[in-house]
Amino acid sequence: MSSEKATASRFPRTGDVTASRQTERKDTAHRHKISRRGFVARAAATVSLAGLLETGRQAEASERRRAPVSPRESIKVTKLETFVLRNSWVFVKISTNAGIVGWGEMLKDNSKMCAAGAKEVEPYLIGKDPRRVVHHWQAIYRHSFYRGGPVLTAVLSGIDQALWDIKGKALGVPVYELLGGPTRDRIRIYGSRADVEQGKAKAFKTQVRADGRIPSRYVESQGFVQRSAENFAALRKAHGPDIDIGIDFHGAVQPQTALLLIKALEPYQPFFYEEPVQCQNVDVMADLARKTHIPIATGERIFTKWGFREILEKKAASILQPDVCYAGGITELRLIAGMAEAYYVPIAPHNPQGPCSLAASCQIAASIPNFLIQERGTDTHEGLLKVPFKAENGFLPLPTEPGLGIEIDEDKLMAQVGEPREYPKTYDRDDGSVVDW
Ligand SMILES: [Mg+2]
Repeated sequence: MSSEKATASRFPRTGDVTASRQTERKDTAHRHKISRRGFVARAAATVSLAGLLETGRQAEASERRRAPVSPRESIKVTKLETFVLRNSWVFVKISTNAGIVGWGEMLKDNSKMCAAGAKEVEPYLIGKDPRRVVHHWQAIYRHSFYRGGPVLTAVLSGIDQALWDIKGKALGVPVYELLGGPTRDRIRIYGSRADVEQGKAKAFKTQVRADGRIPSRYVESQGFVQRSAENFAALRKAHGPDIDIGIDFHGAVQPQTALLLIKALEPYQPFFYEEPVQCQNVDVMADLARKTHIPIATGERIFTKWGFREILEKKAASILQPDVCYAGGITELRLIAGMAEAYYVPIAPHNPQGPCSLAASCQIAASIPNFLIQERGTDTHEGLLKVPFKAENGFLPLPTEPGLGIEIDEDKLMAQVGEPREYPKTYDRDDGSVVDW
């Protein structure tokens, strides 16, 4: 849109304003006469109060942005706390003697284990300078004789986010500024079909389903495969070719059926096939990837650079979806992105969680060159944040506040602490055998 057109659409023309003002004058002259003095007094008071509030907000924001601690000054970790919420999100909060606190998030599926695991790390961190983030990453990872896996890596990931949060706040800058500065002006996001219909996103993800279930049997019938493809075809028809629609197999499909579905869905060009099979046997996923032109996406159940090395080397996926809460935090995602760049593979961070997950993912998106799109970027998290996220037209703005760029509202958070919800246990509806969900 030209700047002239943009101006025209945002502001009415002078003639329109004059005409509408004349009509308005006739209708309201009497009311104005009666209440003008009171109105002027109220308006003056409102303007001056609004002005004061705005000035206060600006001063507070600029105070937050200024580095509160010089790099030469000492900061020490004083406390590590964990919070498990009823929706199973699990947070770690690290406090310091400088009054700066950092927040991170861990693996929601094993929230109580993660909370206990993070407390195990507390004695190591107490008294240490939180700004040596990579050094602490190495110590926490390598001082465990048994390394990696979802729980230990999630503990490390949450702590890593909290340490980066502290470092950014101490220096008064967003984390991406410490990773080389922004690589883009805004962050592309995807959400749900409803988000697309409401204009918040221009891409969404759906699941592979028919007859109210996931295709979890070893070999599904021709009818079931057809109905699964027809369901996707209906979405493509409704939204047209310019809305990207990913399709998630959720690792619940067996390779025999995955191959049939991949072929049946291909004419409708999904954005990507996500976790077409489980990834314990990377060769099987690599075999599927060689048989389709559609990008294969995976990563939410893969941990650290060592886990992603095999995916990349075997070309099992051409889109990586590491989770900043499980795969090793901001430190590790930055390295995984670097490895992926050498294979022309972009990153689409996995995110089914809370505000630290989205905020830390945004720091990655803002600092790597090979970013594709952010999952659940339409979530506002107003239930936990002082200032919610706000996606518009398929993008989130770059964060501007220091650290992770968010402020947790601890009153809101404490009101949600409780016993985490149970995860679904799924069985085949005909023979009762265990199936994935
Ligand atoms: Mg998934």
